[in-house]
Amino acid sequence: MKKLELLYEGKGKKLYKCKDEDLLISEFKDDLTAFNAQKTGQEKGKGALNCKISTELFKLLEENGIKTHLVKTLSENEQLVKKVDIIPLEVVVRNVATGSLVKRLGIKDGTVLPFALVEFYYKDDELGDPLLNDEHCLLLDIASENELETLKILGREINTILKSFFLKRGLNLIDFKVEFGKDKEGNILLSDEISPDSCRFWDVKTKEKLDKDRFRQGLGGVKMAYEEVLDRILKDIK
Ligand code: UDP
Repeated sequence: MKKLELLYEGKGKKLYKCKDEDLLISEFKDDLTAFNAQKTGQEKGKGALNCKISTELFKLLEENGIKTHLVKTLSENEQLVKKVDIIPLEVVVRNVATGSLVKRLGIKDGTVLPFALVEFYYKDDELGDPLLNDEHCLLLDIASENELETLKILGREINTILKSFFLKRGLNLIDFKVEFGKDKEGNILLSDEISPDSCRFWDVKTKEKLDKDRFRQGLGGVKMAYEEVLDRILKDIK
């Protein structure tokens, strides 16, 4: 399958048309951005690592009943995916308080939350991706009440699957962001990616951060951390 016209370029990926109108080619970039693209950088090989990590996690989720846009991997940094209309929400699920939650609500960094917290953020760079409640989503006509409920359920299911998968591999899934889209039949599919760019992982024993916080906080060793996450994913654990 060959890449045709570039349809969209985001911070972490480029989306190309291909000869099948129902499919797109997603190319993972080596670029890193943080703080709404105020901090930028590059890490050679990061795109390929995220492509592999995301493919493995989407396959795991499919095996556990979550419908995704993934069709197959085309090369080390390209996936063939189903074309969807992206719902303009970042669905964030949190197990442990850190990042913006700590800043907004004053909860102590590292506090284990009593339940998985699901949040919606509006995908709008100009507005700085603001936090939305359900009524804001209805007001902006982003999704229906039923769809919001579905997104929350899917977010929690994905969390349950990934949290136990990573715990067996010595990683604590702190929080993550997922995006969903609708295919032409109206099915809600998990889309975009799941990678250390969009998740936080803390090593269970050492508490070391193995995700994009290494870039955000200038800790160094970004690529090594992503490689470590991939190694743990590929570990054969029953
Ligand atoms: N996240 C993301 N893209 C964004 C914002 C957040 O992938 O535009 C992820 C982030 O990596 C973390 C989770 O969502 O795993 C929660 O992020 P938070 O709201 O704490 O944001 P931050 O601290 O990055 O501002």
